[in-house]
Amino acid sequence: MATLGNRRSTAEIIQRYGFDVRKKYGQNFLIDNGVLDRIVEAAELTEADCVLEIGPGIGTLTQRLAEEAGEVVAVEIDRELIPILQETLADYGNVTVLNEDILKTDICGIAQQHGGRPLKVVANLPYYITTPIIMALLESRAPIKSITVMVQREVADRMRVGPGSKEYGALSLAVQYYAKPEIVAQAPASCFLPRPKVDSTVIRLTRYEQPPVKTRDEDWLFAVIRASFNQRRKTLANGLANAGGLGLRRQQVEEVLADMGLPAAVRGETLTLERFAELSDRLYELRA
Ligand code: SAM
Repeated sequence: MATLGNRRSTAEIIQRYGFDVRKKYGQNFLIDNGVLDRIVEAAELTEADCVLEIGPGIGTLTQRLAEEAGEVVAVEIDRELIPILQETLADYGNVTVLNEDILKTDICGIAQQHGGRPLKVVANLPYYITTPIIMALLESRAPIKSITVMVQREVADRMRVGPGSKEYGALSLAVQYYAKPEIVAQAPASCFLPRPKVDSTVIRLTRYEQPPVKTRDEDWLFAVIRASFNQRRKTLANGLANAGGLGLRRQQVEEVLADMGLPAAVRGETLTLERFAELSDRLYELRA
């Protein structure tokens, strides 16, 4: 039976192990059962599912996931938490804890080892690396069905906004290319121990079977998108021409933009995903 989603049990276990909460790992443990319920409901787990949890912490969300899913693989970077997880997860035979950095974990390998079915990712993410984790999951080509995660509220906004907003960027485009984003719940700072400085949001990204736009080469599309937002205050032409890795000349970029009916000083923030797909397909021809 899950027992941890409250302040008293969380503080007790931290104290008993003499555990020093580590800011550098973004450790803010969930102490709100209502929010835990919302995360688990939104993940729509069944016995047939294998869940990948990123950063189990002391195992609060892990216990809930283990009660609903067939299997849970939980990847935790902090080895000081491993003895705590051994205690809190002792009753759950369907959980495997890996003491690893998620950014170095072979996610395809995890899916293969667990029957090859698409994974459901569920996590209260460490905020210092939310964007790299989401980008790595989306671009990994690992079989992932959905990603249900707690993130900083401002990051959830960036995942959902369209062109014209100052939050719009490479993360918005990557999320919207691969998945449908939906807000599941809001979580004020009081839902965590220790309290973070920001409010949080649970967001679910449901992976599309087919991306909403067609492109000749996904890797190239995202290289173009990244370069377009690299120098945020500069024009898109500057970003693309200055990105050495793309091998594009300024004149070529300006010709393509003119051909697409875009002003030379256009900025990445104004282009839809469809327009980025068109731009990247045209630039694909010109790669050095
Ligand atoms: N799931 C727990 C909860 O909800 O109470 C803890 C969430 S806490 C916000 C983030 C967790 O991610 C911490 O346990 C932290 O140690 C872990 N973490 C941080 N960086 C990580 C990384 N690169 N790979 C795996 N886990 C990481």
